Amino acid sequence: MAFMTTILNGKELSQTLRAEIAEQVADFIQETGVTPCLAAILVGDDPASQVYVRNKEKACAAVGMKSVLYRLPAETTQEELLKLVAELNADVSVHGILCQLPLPKQISEQVILDAVSSEKDVDAFHPTNVGLILQGRPHFLPCTPYGIQEMLKRYQIETAGKHVVVLGRSDIVGKPMAAMMVQKGLGADATVTVCHSRTKDLASVTRLADILIVAIGKPKFVTADMVKDGAVVVDVGINRMEAGLVGDVDFDAVQAKTSAITPVPGGVGPLTITMLLGNTLKAARSQTGK
Ligand code: NAP
Repeated sequence: MAFMTTILNGKELSQTLRAEIAEQVADFIQETGVTPCLAAILVGDDPASQVYVRNKEKACAAVGMKSVLYRLPAETTQEELLKLVAELNADVSVHGILCQLPLPKQISEQVILDAVSSEKDVDAFHPTNVGLILQGRPHFLPCTPYGIQEMLKRYQIETAGKHVVVLGRSDIVGKPMAAMMVQKGLGADATVTVCHSRTKDLASVTRLADILIVAIGKPKFVTADMVKDGAVVVDVGINRMEAGLVGDVDFDAVQAKTSAITPVPGGVGPLTITMLLGNTLKAARSQTGK
C-alpha cells in the first residue's frame, strides 16, 4: 500500500531551531552580559573529526555563541588531556565542554568523559547526566536522540502509546533514545523495544514498529520487508560511500511504505549540532543562575 509520505526535513527544521536559539542567545547576552561559550577539544588529526569540530565552531558563531578550539597532538597522554579538562571545568568563561571522539588509543574515552564536569557535559555522556535521563529528570539530553525527539514533536508525530523500535544500542544513540522514549510526557510515553546484533528474527520485531529508529552504521540495512505499512522511519546512519552519504535504511525502497521518513543526508544529521547549541545555551543559563 502506498502512503502520502512526509519527508522529515532536518535541514529546514534545523534552520528554524537555530534561528530560535540565536534569538535566545541575544536575549541572554543582553540580560547577563555573558556570551555562552563552548570549548571543543580535538586530539590528533582524524579528518572526519576535524570536519565535525569545524562545523560545530561555525554553528556556534552563527547563533552568536563563542567557541574555543583546543587542538592537541595525536601523542597527547591521558594525564595531559585530563589536565586540560580540569582547567576547562574550572574556567567560568567556558559553559560547555566537548571532547571530539574517537580519542587516540593511549587515552581511555571513559576516563575523559567521566572527568568533564556534569554541569558542562553538553554531550550528556557523564554518568550523572545518563542517570538523570533514566530517572526522567534530565539536565542535558544527548544531542542526536534529543534532535530526533524534537523532530517528532515539531512534526506532531504522536508517540504516546506507540510502539517505538530502536535498532542499535550504542551509548550515544540507541540506549539514550530508548530511555527518553519510555519516559512520561510529550514526545515520549511510548512502548519501547531495543534491538541489536543478537536479536533473533530482527525483521519480525522491526515490523511491529509504529516508529522505527535505526542507528547501526550499516548502509541500506533496513529493507522494505522490515517495515510496517504506514510506519515512521528515522534513519540515524551516516555511511560514507563512493556515491556519497548513505543511511542505514534503503530509502528508495522503504519510503513508499512509510507515513514519514528522514532522508540521509538532511534528516537527523543537521539536528545533532543544533541540539548541541541548545545544550550550550542551557549550560550557560544554569551556570549563571538564569
Ligand atoms: P555503534 O556504536 O556503531 O553501534 C551499532 C549498533 O548497531 C550496536 O548496538 C550493534 O549491536 C547494532 N548492530 C550492528 N549490526 C547489526 C545488525 N546486523 N543487526 C542488528 N543490530 C546491529 O552505533 P552508533 O554510534 O549509534 O552509530 C550508528 C550509526 O549512526 C553510524 O552510521 C553513525 O555514523 C551514525 N550516527 C549519526 C549521528 C548523527 O548525528 N546523525 C550521530 C551518531 C551516530 P551490538 O551492540 O550487538 O554490537
